[in-house]
Amino acid sequence: MKKHNYSAGPCILPQEVFEKSAQAVLDFNNSGLSILEISHRSKDFVAVMDEARALVLELLGLEGKGYQALFLQGGASLEFLMVPQNLMKVDGKAAYLDTGTWANNAIKEAKLFGETVVVASSAAENYNYIPTEYTIPAEASYFHCTSNNTIFGTQMKSFPKTDIPVVCDMSSDIFSRSLDFTQFDLIYAGAQKNMGAAGATLVVVKEEILGKSDRTIPSILDYEKHIKAESMYNTPSVFAVYTCLLTLQWLKNQGGIAAIEKINESKANLLYNEIDRNPLFIGTAHTKDRSIMNATFLLVDEKNQEAFDKLWKEAGISGIAGHRSVGGYRASMYNALPLESVQVLVDVMKKLEVVVKQNEVTV
Ligand SMILES: *Cc1c(COP(=O)(O)O)cnc(C)c1O
Repeated sequence: MKKHNYSAGPCILPQEVFEKSAQAVLDFNNSGLSILEISHRSKDFVAVMDEARALVLELLGLEGKGYQALFLQGGASLEFLMVPQNLMKVDGKAAYLDTGTWANNAIKEAKLFGETVVVASSAAENYNYIPTEYTIPAEASYFHCTSNNTIFGTQMKSFPKTDIPVVCDMSSDIFSRSLDFTQFDLIYAGAQKNMGAAGATLVVVKEEILGKSDRTIPSILDYEKHIKAESMYNTPSVFAVYTCLLTLQWLKNQGGIAAIEKINESKANLLYNEIDRNPLFIGTAHTKDRSIMNATFLLVDEKNQEAFDKLWKEAGISGIAGHRSVGGYRASMYNALPLESVQVLVDVMKKLEVVVKQNEVTV
């Protein structure tokens, strides 16, 4: 039986994406060939890449606004260094907002390239909130932030206004909510959290910010070379890109980002209301900064852990163990997770309350 999958990534994708991509492995477009055995330069695959790139810009509302979408490799983690390599001026500096483990990893890589100013950090509070009071140095080559902190369950609800390019790691909330995406100059995201199979990394970049760093950039790390090659500088991760295309098509059929955002908000409200109502649980993130994608919460009394774990496992729930740096539980509610799955979790939380009350009576 299909599980209620709360995995943080790789994670749940729409069922039709699993089915159509499985079919393409056996016979792609009735060609008598698998998608895994054809040239990435074949007409059929070039069409996949072109449509996926175009759909990204269409769904984000960035068509005709000077942006390019690329499907690269190396995960979001490679972008941690591609960004400074392409954008940080020689002898220049970059500004970073430190809101979690991934932001911190990005900062570590940037330091290899030059002066890296951390404008604010919530590390001292184990990243349970998003700092808001800070200034961005006007002479920095760019400002980098992380829209959604997958591990700590916090999410930026607004973004600072600045004249320098804004770079955002959207790995775990891309395509989940409506934003004015023109406020960003470069967006990147590993595919495996809201888009498709692991192995592809989406980069959306405003072309005018490129070519200004005066650095020597190795070809494979050069955004301009990837743009020139139409995201085919080398063999792309064909299968992962195909799953991204299928997910983007699914999203468009759902009504796009605005429609999925409504469902995502219903899911998050349902779960957070129960976390706040149920005396056995407590959320870890500040309420105003809570993520609609990853909800992190703890049991108030750890002695109920065994009973809770038994209940959710019996209910067919998978993947809600918390990350080791926060503990407790993390429910990742990406686009493809149905509202019904959240209801199952909420019912389990209510059931735990009944079980605990019964035990108190018997003791
Ligand atoms: C998962 C994650 C990453 C790392 O992604 P990889 O593709 O594994 O390199 C980076 N940033 C955020 C916000 C993430 O959630």
